[in-house]
Amino acid sequence: MDRVLPPGLDRSTFEKALTEFNQVVGKQWVFIERKKVDLYRDAYTPLDANDEFYASAAIAPASTEEVQAIVKIANRYKIPLWSISTGKNLAYGGSSPRMTGTIVLDLKRMNKILEVNEELAYVLVEPGVSFFDLHNHLKENHSKLWMSVPSPGWGSVLGNALERGAGYTPYGDHFGQQCGMEVVLADGELMRTGNGAIEGTDSWQQFKYGFGPYVDGLFTQSNYGVVTKMGLWLMPEPEYYTCGMIHVRDEDQLENIVNTLRPFMLDKTIECAPSIYTGTFEAAFRTVRSKYKQGPVPMTKKELRDMYADLGVGWWNIRLSFYGDESTVKHNWEKVRLAFEKLPGVTHEMKEFRTPLTIDELDYNEKLQAGIPNMAEWNVINWGTGLSGHMDFSPTCPLIGSTAMEQYNLFSKMVQDAGYEYVGGFVGRERGLLHIVPLPIIKNMPEVNKQGRKAISAMIDEGAKRGWAAYRSHLFLMDQVAGSYSFNDGAALKFNQTLKDALDPNGIFAPGKQGIWPKAYREAKS
Ligand code: ADP
Repeated sequence: MDRVLPPGLDRSTFEKALTEFNQVVGKQWVFIERKKVDLYRDAYTPLDANDEFYASAAIAPASTEEVQAIVKIANRYKIPLWSISTGKNLAYGGSSPRMTGTIVLDLKRMNKILEVNEELAYVLVEPGVSFFDLHNHLKENHSKLWMSVPSPGWGSVLGNALERGAGYTPYGDHFGQQCGMEVVLADGELMRTGNGAIEGTDSWQQFKYGFGPYVDGLFTQSNYGVVTKMGLWLMPEPEYYTCGMIHVRDEDQLENIVNTLRPFMLDKTIECAPSIYTGTFEAAFRTVRSKYKQGPVPMTKKELRDMYADLGVGWWNIRLSFYGDESTVKHNWEKVRLAFEKLPGVTHEMKEFRTPLTIDELDYNEKLQAGIPNMAEWNVINWGTGLSGHMDFSPTCPLIGSTAMEQYNLFSKMVQDAGYEYVGGFVGRERGLLHIVPLPIIKNMPEVNKQGRKAISAMIDEGAKRGWAAYRSHLFLMDQVAGSYSFNDGAALKFNQTLKDALDPNGIFAPGKQGIWPKAYREAKS
């Protein structure tokens, strides 16, 4: 493929800009060879090669000062930059930009853990710090702090919080634990949020709000700045930890499951983020699909029921954990267990651990609920035949059983009608559920991927009709999802665009991210 250029830039101007970038970071950290730039393509893209978004180059700075210098150059030449921290963002676009010609600003080299504060239970990290890095660091230093991790845990702590990703411990709302950011703005200026704006502060990671508007949220799922540092609260190690699963045999019990969980989540008997997912998800850890079904044909409901019975899992499986002193933990689990035993066809398994944990003794679920990063999720990705990834439709659902049931019935049918198995589930939030509906991507099978894209797009539209919108999306769906937040003629998107034009008048940060296009590109599109 020929060299891709940033939109509106001729080759010689681009070369001039690249020379200036070289002077900032050193030539070896400016990638322009197609082979190297291609490493930033979405490894799990659902798009055909012609429709993919291609970066024109990638730059990997080593410090905030270098980021500032790059941004100033990009602003002068009006060159778009797409920031990635570790660029994993599985199912939502990996390290690819939204717009062809954008330069990827790869922050992986900025990977310092700047502070671990045991007394006040927080860390301050740079973008390139992965969940594994932080976990290893805490372990090596005999820390008494627990992280919260997404599945899989290969990505960036800061990047995941910026995308408002989810984990499973009581600290599982990752942006919710964020306290204090450092941000490079579009003119290259450096800003700190919250108490970080106080010169010489000793409380940047202790008070979130500072004085005046609370702006940290503006830098999440957005294109208003490059975040170069982030404070995050961690959880003090509990004395006792239990983790297990409640299996519920029947598909139609989802409504009762959600209604049973709700009071315990509201009164904090359950502090973790419980997951509710189908037996197929659990089967992926316990067996291989070919034992039950040959070929890429969806399993029938009867076949699924038989497989779940054989494996001793439910149609629905609720992963739960409790943290605290031994008697409180046991008491809380007992309350929840008794409530669930009122439902038909319920079994459970629950393991108890005194801390510190011995990691090698923990299975996948026990690690995840204790914030220990791992990559076991690949079992689910590899379920089925020839799967090489997935794209997720991720609508939000209120913590109400009948709505969860309605959402499941609608979307699981749409998945089945498109020729796939539903291997999804729900992750609990304080008053809601994140519903994850994955669709497979199969490398070198464009027809399958096209069918999946059609199905996901149709689900976004069907969801929007009922007031359910996705909380996150793949790059190619961002405009559609942004459009589904349509109250009052899209007032929210208009507000985001007004901010975009004010904060980044040359439109250099991540054009198109979350459906927010800078003025120049908006006008070109219309
Ligand atoms: P992870 O590797 O944890 O999945 P990524 O590095 O892929 O996270 O980041 C996910 C998305 O978040 C990116 O595609 C980008 O849009 C945004 N992002 C990541 N890091 C930054 C950052 N430091 N500043 C601004 N936006 C960022």
